Amino acid sequence: MMEKEELFGKTLNELKEVVAKLGMAKFVASQIADWLYKKDISSINEMRNLSKKTKALLNENYTYGTTAPISVQESNDGTKKYLFETLNGKFIETAYIPELKRNTVCVSTQVGCKMACEFCMTGRQKFHGNLNAATIVNQIRSLDEWHRISNIVYMGMGEPMDNLPEVLKSLEIITSDWGLGISPRRINVSTIGLLPNITEFIQNSDANLAISLHSPFDNERAELMPIQKASPIKDVITELRKYDWSGKRRLSFEYIVFDGLNHSDLHVKELAKILNGLKYRINLIRFHNIPDSPLPSSDDENMIKFQQKLKAKGIITTIRASRGQDIDAACGLLSTKKLL
Ligand code: SF4
Repeated sequence: MMEKEELFGKTLNELKEVVAKLGMAKFVASQIADWLYKKDISSINEMRNLSKKTKALLNENYTYGTTAPISVQESNDGTKKYLFETLNGKFIETAYIPELKRNTVCVSTQVGCKMACEFCMTGRQKFHGNLNAATIVNQIRSLDEWHRISNIVYMGMGEPMDNLPEVLKSLEIITSDWGLGISPRRINVSTIGLLPNITEFIQNSDANLAISLHSPFDNERAELMPIQKASPIKDVITELRKYDWSGKRRLSFEYIVFDGLNHSDLHVKELAKILNGLKYRINLIRFHNIPDSPLPSSDDENMIKFQQKLKAKGIITTIRASRGQDIDAACGLLSTKKLL
């Protein structure tokens, strides 16, 4: 027997195709979208405003399609780490980070990752597949807290620009009025700087962009991030200069601080130089030591000093609060290696 397709994860246009194929009235597509992306149900039978016949026809051909997490761990600070099993029997993690004024979900876009960044647990797990849009959006929609989610960051497992078609589709579902209706201003997509995909992303989405920088010096960056050789940060910056970042759409650079390694006066000077003229902010991230890595964790005092020096150069610089470290949900710690 053929496996039934899921309705969840389809765009409004795709739902229109579904209803046309099944001979249903056009408006049924919007009704289905409403049940998929706005209501707390988990089966086609609960779509109350559809006729019995319509529901039966849908049930014959499709499933509702959301997938509940298989486990959740909660940190002392309220951060939660959800574990999901994906369609092909692999596992992914999603972090939920509640704060005073916002609640953020950090979604994964791939199982593992090809990019092999030195400081990242996901990178060590290697690549095991792309997530489709449904699986990305499911990481938001199937959390108990989904109505309370105000912000989304694409900073979990995987490199979003390496799975761009599905990432763009997921963004369409998340930001559309017929979908989850979350403003693109509240979404931040993070990349290590993959050209030419960044260009396609900028032109096809309004979400904010965060570039993982970690060092302004080519050799040093290449040691941390192999992508530097194929897609040098200076080329990425040249590309970013073609667009306007002074409006509501934000550009930021993520900068993991490794103690004694990438926060000297020379780094400050070079950062100000290569980013000169762009409208951006820098987000400093504390490095969490990972097993068997020579890279040193960040020292609070050095991070604050580095922040002050960058600020003195006129660069808006924040230090990201570290959340969920005790359950390995903090930046760079997501990994389902033990489950593969
Ligand atoms: S930091 Fe991001 S791009 Fe680099 S290995 Fe980890 S998940 Fe992949």
